[in-house]
Amino acid sequence: MNTPGTLNTLGTTVLGHPRIGPDRELKRALEAYWAGKVTETGLLETGRRLRERTWTALRDTGLGSIPSSTFSHYDQVLDVAALFGALPGRFTRLGLSPLDTYFAAARGVPDAPALEMTKWFDTNYHYLVPELGPDSRFTLTGTAPLDEVREAKALGITPRPVLVGPVTFLLLAKADTPGFEPIELLDELLPAYVELLRRLRAEGVEWVQLDEPAFAADRSTAELNALTRAYHVLAKETERPKLLVAGYFGKLGRALGVLARSPIEALAVDLVTDESFVDDVAAEGALRDKEILAGVVDGRNVWRTDPDRALACARRLAGTAARVSVSTSCSLLHVPYDVTAETRLEPRLQSWLAFARQKVDEVVLLGRALDGEDVDLAPARAAVADRAGATELTDPAVRGRLAGLTEADAVRPPYAQRAAAQSAALDLPDLPTTTIGSFPQTGDVRRARAAHRAGKLGAEEYRGAMRAEIERVVRLQEDLGLDVLVHGEPERNDMVQYFAEQLAGFAATEHGWVQSYGSRCVRPPILFGDVSRPEPMTVEWARYAQSLTSRPVKGMLTGPVTILAWSFVRDDQPLGDTARQVALAIRDEVADLEAAGIRVIQVDEPALRELLPLRTAAHDAYFAWAVHAFRLATSGVEDRTQIHTHMCYSEFGEVLPAIDALEADVTSIEAARSKMEVLADLTSAGFARGVGPGVYDIHSPRVPDSGEVTGLVRTALAAVPADRLWVNPDCGLKTRGYAEVEPALRHLVGAARQLRGEP
Ligand code: GLN
Ligand code: ZN
Repeated sequence: MNTPGTLNTLGTTVLGHPRIGPDRELKRALEAYWAGKVTETGLLETGRRLRERTWTALRDTGLGSIPSSTFSHYDQVLDVAALFGALPGRFTRLGLSPLDTYFAAARGVPDAPALEMTKWFDTNYHYLVPELGPDSRFTLTGTAPLDEVREAKALGITPRPVLVGPVTFLLLAKADTPGFEPIELLDELLPAYVELLRRLRAEGVEWVQLDEPAFAADRSTAELNALTRAYHVLAKETERPKLLVAGYFGKLGRALGVLARSPIEALAVDLVTDESFVDDVAAEGALRDKEILAGVVDGRNVWRTDPDRALACARRLAGTAARVSVSTSCSLLHVPYDVTAETRLEPRLQSWLAFARQKVDEVVLLGRALDGEDVDLAPARAAVADRAGATELTDPAVRGRLAGLTEADAVRPPYAQRAAAQSAALDLPDLPTTTIGSFPQTGDVRRARAAHRAGKLGAEEYRGAMRAEIERVVRLQEDLGLDVLVHGEPERNDMVQYFAEQLAGFAATEHGWVQSYGSRCVRPPILFGDVSRPEPMTVEWARYAQSLTSRPVKGMLTGPVTILAWSFVRDDQPLGDTARQVALAIRDEVADLEAAGIRVIQVDEPALRELLPLRTAAHDAYFAWAVHAFRLATSGVEDRTQIHTHMCYSEFGEVLPAIDALEADVTSIEAARSKMEVLADLTSAGFARGVGPGVYDIHSPRVPDSGEVTGLVRTALAAVPADRLWVNPDCGLKTRGYAEVEPALRHLVGAARQLRGEP
């Protein structure tokens, strides 16, 4: 369908690439630089080597177009703010080098708190939120994209620089002045982009990619008009590279027509997130003179692509555009580097997976097939067929249980009845105090876990070390005077991985690191088959902790939605079905905790907001399965057993009704920074069960004094009566040290006592 070798087309490509390094080289270099152990030159050299490796590897696979500026020292949104001189004055005034100014904005310095960090759409990557105001001005002050072009050209590669596009950049920014909308700055910002385009063209660049994922979410007419205006202004420049606009993370909705009618040369579309989008694209008449990058290889999940399905999808667009080329659905930033680095995965499972390196190969192969070349698709077909036919992925017991569920399995008796039973069973004071679960993970704890994992510390010694830690933490809490205690979670590396390692249906990787933000990486487990719980996962620790004290010890579990959000999840059945399986496994654990005498059980769902679909129209369906999964996990208990949940993110808005629908007896939420704002919203949404708005911001090393905590609890008391109001920190304490945690918790307990009128 395409004429191979047509000049001036992009051809096959990937929209972006991992950048942290196959062995997390950039993470190490960054952290060493921040610790003063590596010079700026050393850090820059690590980056240069990683880029060189990526570019030459991409070129050697035979990709048509090679992206640049997919590298970043921290974050691609921050990169644009720095490039155009748009960092807030509190950083630029510090008199630091450009690189250190950039890191100050990313990480903060004593007198200049960092930019806010928030989730990149519905992924687990976090970007830094630009702060803009009516006085913000933009000039091309940075040179990074130009420098990268020169670097690549020295290797014989003319790359395609990739940047966050102007409209998405402004839509992601926050106003530094009330009432101001950053999008009002569009006409200020566009000339800076134009200048960059001119300079890139002067370097010989043929194509530039501008990412506009903000249009995968619902957008107003004014925002769509801004998109129209932006690309008309940019395209008007005559001395510019060709423009590729990438809209990913879902359907483009009305933005599809806007972009199709704008004078850009190519459009990248995500045909994986919602496969039906291909129909919209095929029906769009205005794309006829453009190149379409058909994003048929999933940039966010780890499964091998079904070549026939992908090709059929791309072929649907024949005749829609001047040329159709194969691409990934979004940047490969969200998947690990190379599945062949894994040595402990079950070989059959491994043969079903594709990480970044394999996905690039898939793109190249599919691109050649699309161009009519006779390529060998048999291995890919065989792997996909093998997975589809693998009966081992289905567990009849799990299926049978799911089929036998009734509505009653996800319903508890009315709250009033439960509350009465719990109050009798627990006998807690007003303003009960508790923590969210983890206590500081000391060097000793981490070392014991690592030694046990490496086989250097036997099971009995490890158990002894953990028990000693649990006892220490229980005694400390008794001494502090907390009302509901926790065991402290010393045995947990991570709140999802810990469970994934013990559940059937999950696999762990050794090198499957994915950047979460800055130098921080996570290694999501792979949920590949039906999920069940062969053995209790937390009961032994909880039972031991409870044996040490007469106060209630809260059992601590991770909820089904969060387990899915922080894993790579099978794509062969609806997410809701997978969530129900995980929910049943958690339900079994809840039942065992209750049977072991645990009277309070917390099921954390910090990722409830994260999986919220970008389009409002999809919210209800999401809430339906997410809420049902939580209730399925928690509704099997007696009335007197108190179910808690916990969430920690600042924007609750759209999820408030779902939080209410979880029907947890007590909900703890982040609130210290926002000064309890969320409470008013919760109560006006009709929420009338127990609630613990955080009164201690654990993201900061600052220890709040008693007056501050008392003030926050007083504010909360204006919205919630004392018998339903809990006093607790914002989140778990694992990242803090005891030197901060002890006094902070003392102030917290002191505030509750004072307000109860105790001496
Ligand atoms: N129970 C977990 C902890 O305290 C909750 C962590 C979280 O919400 N992210 O660490
Ligand atoms: Zn939390």
